Amino acid sequence: MQNRYATSYRGFDYLNLDAELTDEQKLIRDSVRAWVTQSVVPIIEDCAQNNKFPRELFNQLGEIGALGPYIPTEYGGGGLDLISYGLIMQELERGDSGVRSAASVQTSLVMYPIWKYGSEEQKNKFLPKLAKGEFIGCFGLTEPSHGSDPSSMETKIKKQGDKYILNGAKMWITNSPIADVAVVWAKNEEGFIMGCLVEKGMKGFSAPEIKNKWSLRASITGELIFEDVEIPEENILPNAKGLKAPLSCLSSARYGISWGSMGAAMDCLHHAVEYSKERKQFGKPLAGFQLTQKKLAEMLTDLTKAQLLALQLGKLNNAGKITPAQISMGKRNNVETALRIARECRQICGAMGITGDFPFMRHAMNLESVITYEGTHEVHLLITGMDITGENAFG
Ligand SMILES: Cc1cc2nc3c(=O)[nH]c(=O)nc-3n(C[C@H](O)[C@H](O)[C@H](O)COP(=O)(O)OP(=O)(O)OC[C@H]3O[C@@H](n4cnc5c(N)ncnc54)[C@H](O)[C@@H]3O)c2cc1C
Repeated sequence: MQNRYATSYRGFDYLNLDAELTDEQKLIRDSVRAWVTQSVVPIIEDCAQNNKFPRELFNQLGEIGALGPYIPTEYGGGGLDLISYGLIMQELERGDSGVRSAASVQTSLVMYPIWKYGSEEQKNKFLPKLAKGEFIGCFGLTEPSHGSDPSSMETKIKKQGDKYILNGAKMWITNSPIADVAVVWAKNEEGFIMGCLVEKGMKGFSAPEIKNKWSLRASITGELIFEDVEIPEENILPNAKGLKAPLSCLSSARYGISWGSMGAAMDCLHHAVEYSKERKQFGKPLAGFQLTQKKLAEMLTDLTKAQLLALQLGKLNNAGKITPAQISMGKRNNVETALRIARECRQICGAMGITGDFPFMRHAMNLESVITYEGTHEVHLLITGMDITGENAFG
């Protein structure tokens, strides 16, 4: 069923937002959409059901330019603008939030900090391989005892001669068990947050998988454990100073999520519209009942408002005028909207809606992680609350 409706997928553009896009942006969006229809949709349900990450997709993501789209071409990136980045995330998440997570972690949380805070040697060593999907990267900020409050992190990095010694643990790290390089945030002896690059195979470093997830099942999540890991000076990010460095990475990723979540929402709405036109009860299609139309009309309205939000964030981002608080509003609103749409679409399709023939349950379960990671729904509310009042209600 998913495959049948996949070929007729056109997305939704009720307010002709396409008119705001350049021909290049539309071409990028359409080519990623075609790749998702061809390479992700046919396999993703099986991957999610079997809790399997399609590793081969990484190389393909590299081939289609989805890894580091806005990183300069001299380092293997796409050199594209930030609306194009958003559109790529949107199309990937229509396939699955796990596939979008792979591309957004690689881009915003691994390539971005290396590009922004790394040395020229680090950029040349890692970025081209990460862009091709030859290397997989991960980002270690969250710890077992510190999620929403990363400033309290306990992972420690200590200078010893010409190297550093890393001790501690990170938790809930996307792709950590298969990563070649981890961007890790740790406190030095003065309590100052630093970033370093931990490479697979370093002595004392392990990355066990976290099992038993009901969400993002087509994405691998794991821990990062450091037991006296020796980090050479050349693996320290020289320009990352303090918590604002990891937070800037999160801003980039959250911006991508405000677009990505629209892809999951559009996939659900598309399937619900198509099925409700086909399925008959009481002698007429479900789509012909007022209650169904109310649901569909309200979802289309909410989706359109969220799309406007994402597009305006994209324009501000391209102009270099976006603020982290504006991104918070986009991430929070759009993920919540997508989650609501996934649940309502599931309901429209009745019992069939709970099966893997439709993408609703997979998207909804995925979005339960998306609403928690990259800053929880509540944390983003507090950021907006602080922005409007000037009062910090976190602590
Ligand atoms: C599948 C998955 C992948 C992830 N990938 C990564 C990754 O690649 N790298 C990484 O570093 N992290 C990753 N994370 C971790 C994610 O960012 C954290 O889960 C998130 O920041 C929340 O932290 P926590 O789970 O410890 O929740 P907690 O911080 O313990 O919060 C629990 C609840 O309390 C609420 N809360 C917390 N503080 C307040 C407050 N001041 N006021 C009101 N409510 C509050 C929260 O909103 C939440 O609802 C991932 C998580 C998941 C689920």
